[in-house]
Amino acid sequence: MATMESLIGLVNRIQRACTVLGDHGGEGGSLWEALPSVAVVGGQSSGKSSVLESIVGRDFLPRGSGIVTRRPLVLQLHKTEGGQAEYGEFLHAPRKKFADFAAIRKEIQDETDRLTGKTKHISNIPIHLSVYSPHEGQPDSIVEDIENMVRSYVEKPNCIILAISPANQDIATSDAIKIAREVDPSGERTFGVLTKLDLMDQGTNALDVLEGRSYRLQHPWVGIVNRSQADINKNVDMIAARRKEQEYFATSPDYGHLAHKMGSEYLAKLLSKHLESVIRARIPSIIALINKTIAELEAELDRLGRPIGSDAGAQLYTILEMCRAFDRVFKEHLDGGRPGGDRIYGVFDNQLPAALKKLPFDRHLSLQNVRKVISEADGYQPHLIAPEQGYRRLIDSSLSYFKGPADASVDAVHFVLKELVRKSIAETEELKRFPTLQSDIAAAANEALERFREDSRKTVLRLVEMESSYLTVEFFRKLPQEPDKGSNSSAPTVDRYGENHLRRIGSNVSAYVGMVCDILKNSIPKAIVYCQVREAKRSLLNFFYAQVGSREKKQLSGMLDEDPGLMEKREAIAKRLELYKSARDEIDSVAWK
Ligand code: GDP
Ligand code: MG
Repeated sequence: MATMESLIGLVNRIQRACTVLGDHGGEGGSLWEALPSVAVVGGQSSGKSSVLESIVGRDFLPRGSGIVTRRPLVLQLHKTEGGQAEYGEFLHAPRKKFADFAAIRKEIQDETDRLTGKTKHISNIPIHLSVYSPHEGQPDSIVEDIENMVRSYVEKPNCIILAISPANQDIATSDAIKIAREVDPSGERTFGVLTKLDLMDQGTNALDVLEGRSYRLQHPWVGIVNRSQADINKNVDMIAARRKEQEYFATSPDYGHLAHKMGSEYLAKLLSKHLESVIRARIPSIIALINKTIAELEAELDRLGRPIGSDAGAQLYTILEMCRAFDRVFKEHLDGGRPGGDRIYGVFDNQLPAALKKLPFDRHLSLQNVRKVISEADGYQPHLIAPEQGYRRLIDSSLSYFKGPADASVDAVHFVLKELVRKSIAETEELKRFPTLQSDIAAAANEALERFREDSRKTVLRLVEMESSYLTVEFFRKLPQEPDKGSNSSAPTVDRYGENHLRRIGSNVSAYVGMVCDILKNSIPKAIVYCQVREAKRSLLNFFYAQVGSREKKQLSGMLDEDPGLMEKREAIAKRLELYKSARDEIDSVAWK
């Protein structure tokens, strides 16, 4: 047989689990709704706080079992003059006006949490709310809303209503009975509690109420004598109060025959017994809901990503896994599985040829410039046959123009690769939760790309320099011979700087440069792919891997810093999951005995 304590513990745990993420029901079928709860209702000063006090703090009521607002709410209505709109004001936040019910409800919740903490659920210290309204007689919307809030609790079929009425007031006008009659007309889940029996007028008694004649309920009415204001002022403790209450009934001429069914202690037992049977009846559906919720939470955790082990090994493993995932995505971009790699080919196919085409060879090899360079190279002695030095200077200076486009291609490919890194990081699902690791990987990848770029730049410049350091002799050997000078001996020296001669030199150089251009158009892409693209594919994160491998645990966990919001969410879900699981274990251990 499961003990009441374990059943209550069970309900407590489940409710705490519900409270962790604040899922107080809402949509039907939530666990919160399936749980039994107790609502204490009653008019002002009917004794709610006192009754609560005597049964809370002992372990026979599930704490926070939906007891209305978890703190008693003392509501005062004030009429205001003129066209002023309705508003509420709390004693704990004077001069702050709350214009609508949503704000009021939130403040009630917040203030309750402030006092009780999020996990303790009730307090008997009241919240004082004053509602100021110009309306008179008619139902105020805020008051109506508050009543609706109370009603929404007590309407739940699983809600046990502790209806508190003071004995020194006509039961026909009891607020508690009014609401109980409304939401529980058959009286199945209402416990009638009659307080202040000691304050009744001399010569009157409450037997009509206590014996169920005034208002019939399925459960017996319980009469209570709480501590009076004077007792409270004198700090009469709970044990003394209980003893006094028992004495009162035992010695009462009116209630003596009912003494064993009266008093706080009896009420607690009665409530506890009832709660037990309600919980028992609910166990199968609670189990079903717990299992459903566990499955949902597991799915949610899978979606958010599981928490990572706290040891350095697990963390290193996770980081490397994540790097590999990023690397996969990056390679897919390069190899065409994802878009973007084609832009590298675009650099080789469009940008580089266009830049080469735009080089100012026309100007550089103009008649005028050729003459200038040739003469300067000749110095004081004009060349005899062919201007060897002049040729070399013209070719050399032309070839150095190739450095610009070569350099630009290196940079263009660099930026494509950088952009692909950025995209790949954004597209790596696994990385989504780790902003720090994201930026670490980005930094490492960009650093590597920067190194590849420098290497590539050196290589392509070297290609250009190689072209100017050794000319292809073949090319010049194959050139058609100059017109025979010997046959035209009339002006042999004038011809040396003559236009035809210079034009020929210019076109020879231009043809040579054109040939080199064709070579470079092919070799620059090869160098760039070799130095930048291939390296990016092979070893983008190699350096990073080596660094990470030697890092301390503290640094590793720093890298696995998650978005705090996400972490909180996961933690909350994990905690809830744990609570639900332990609740399930507990049910398994107690429910079927
Ligand atoms: P609540 O407004 O419904 O929470 O009522 P309280 O529990 O705060 O009680 C209001 C006042 O009535 C307090 O001064 C209590 O001491 C007093 N009181 C409550 N119940 C009894 C009772 O049974 N007998 C006497 N003499 N005073 C009571
Ligand atoms: Mg009170």
